[in-house]
Amino acid sequence: MLEIKDVRAGYGAINVLWDVSLSVPQGQLTTIVGPNGAGKTTLLRAIMGLIPLTQGSISFEGRPLGGASTWDLLGQGIAMIPEGRMVFKDMSIEENLMLGAYPKSRRAGAKANCEKAYALFPRLKERRTQLAGTLSGGEAQMLAMGRGLMSDPHLLIIDEPSLGLAPVIVNELFDVLAQLKKEGRTIVLVEQNTHKAVGVADHVHLMQGGKIQFSQAAADVDIEALHELYFAR
Ligand code: ATP
Repeated sequence: MLEIKDVRAGYGAINVLWDVSLSVPQGQLTTIVGPNGAGKTTLLRAIMGLIPLTQGSISFEGRPLGGASTWDLLGQGIAMIPEGRMVFKDMSIEENLMLGAYPKSRRAGAKANCEKAYALFPRLKERRTQLAGTLSGGEAQMLAMGRGLMSDPHLLIIDEPSLGLAPVIVNELFDVLAQLKKEGRTIVLVEQNTHKAVGVADHVHLMQGGKIQFSQAAADVDIEALHELYFAR
């Protein structure tokens, strides 16, 4: 379980998150939806220790994360797949994947996890020696997801996987998310495609203006009502 309590955080003098609290149950997929600039990525950065909290606390499996470096979190079984893929363009697909298992505690499983990534995304296997800079947007997203899985994380945090991708690729990526959920991984998904996000999620939170405005079990979400809230000023 990931527990976020009363968190405030931002960038220097600018506060973005206002008293954000939410729980992410083990083995389930929690999605955070919301318009541009709502603070979704900022919340993910706060979880990953990339920006400091000015108030509140975040804990995972009972351990407080406050003060842990992003590097330590990977060793503790938390991995983030960032918005914009962030693959290393001058490295091959396989070299990019291997970087996801770089922490010492994760190296023993690297070969097996690489095969798992290839099983999820066979296109990566076909192109294993190709430079990441030559991939299409969809393939680069697959690579970013494969790299995130290389540390065999208990908690996988994914920021906007569908951004800029064709619907057929988005469907493929969401099929993989559904499969990862079936494997029992705990997933936090930030997504602007609310239809797809609600379709795969167990829990839905709507973020606006740095606050959680609405939380519901995905099965109970009325997508039209959610959209009305989403676009409300
Ligand atoms: P998007 O879908 O557009 O990424 P988001 O919900 O993820 O939206 P954030 O990226 O968290 O939103 O941005 C929230 C607010 O924080 C915005 O007003 C943004 O301008 C501001 N912000 C984001 N990154 C920085 C930064 N590095 N320095 C200063 N302000 C920032």
